[in-house]
Amino acid sequence: MAQLTITGLRAGVQGREILRGIDLTVRSGEVHAVMGPNGAGKSTLSNVLMGAPGYEVLGGLVTLDGEDLLELPTWKRAAAGLFLAMQYPTEVPGVALETMLTEALVATGKASGDVHALMAAEAERIGFDERFLSRPLNVDLSGGEKKRNETLQLGVLQPKIAVLDEIDSGLDVDALADVSRRVEELTNQSGLGVLAITHYQRLLTVLRPDVVHVLVQGRIVASGGPELVEQLEETGYAPYLEEAEVLDGALADPFADPFADPFK
Ligand code: ADP
Ligand code: MG
Repeated sequence: MAQLTITGLRAGVQGREILRGIDLTVRSGEVHAVMGPNGAGKSTLSNVLMGAPGYEVLGGLVTLDGEDLLELPTWKRAAAGLFLAMQYPTEVPGVALETMLTEALVATGKASGDVHALMAAEAERIGFDERFLSRPLNVDLSGGEKKRNETLQLGVLQPKIAVLDEIDSGLDVDALADVSRRVEELTNQSGLGVLAITHYQRLLTVLRPDVVHVLVQGRIVASGGPELVEQLEETGYAPYLEEAEVLDGALADPFADPFADPFK
């Protein structure tokens, strides 16, 4: 049983605070969806979790099975069992996918065995053409192909917890069905815990979320069941933006009545 625990996480970029106190716990087998408007801080959250350069942690704690992740370099976070499918996967000319996955498996202490066979099996599961497997990492892949490539890596590496940053963007309907089915399968088969950032209900019809969180202006302003996804489709984020602004005002004003209801 693995557990990613995020407590009071605050982080900024270029001197501006973007994440303003995130609390979130993801356990093995659970799917947490994070939805929110553009610029809310969703990618910042995934990048800070994985330790991407350029982000400054201002406070809070992130642990995976009790181990402090924020202290670790990115590769050690990955070796500890955290995986990030990037919103914009990076092209790495000169590095073959197979080499990267072999090194990653070795670093995790997992026997690497026949990595090519593992890759081929995963490619088939998600309808990813085998001819892409010999390409340098993500080079000359379309947006949708890159997302499938991320999913393939997830299947081969089998981390404890996966953060999926808009894994559905750029995927056609069939690819979306393949990808969401494979991720859902992994949650059931190997107990993968998932933090899925998405804008769309369609990802979440196959990859069933246990909890849906609404992230607005760097804060989780609501959490609920799958019904929250449908409600968001109807109302959009407007009601939550208002809430976030009221909350901002209440926090920013040192003379505000501390007992006032911030939502009135
Ligand atoms: P989301 O993924 O929810 O759309 P992001 O986390 O990408 O939002 O961005 C949140 C805010 O942080 C935006 O205003 C964005 O411009 C800013 N931001 C994120 N990453 C960087 C960066 N590396 N440099 C400068 N600004 C950034
Ligand atoms: Mg984003």
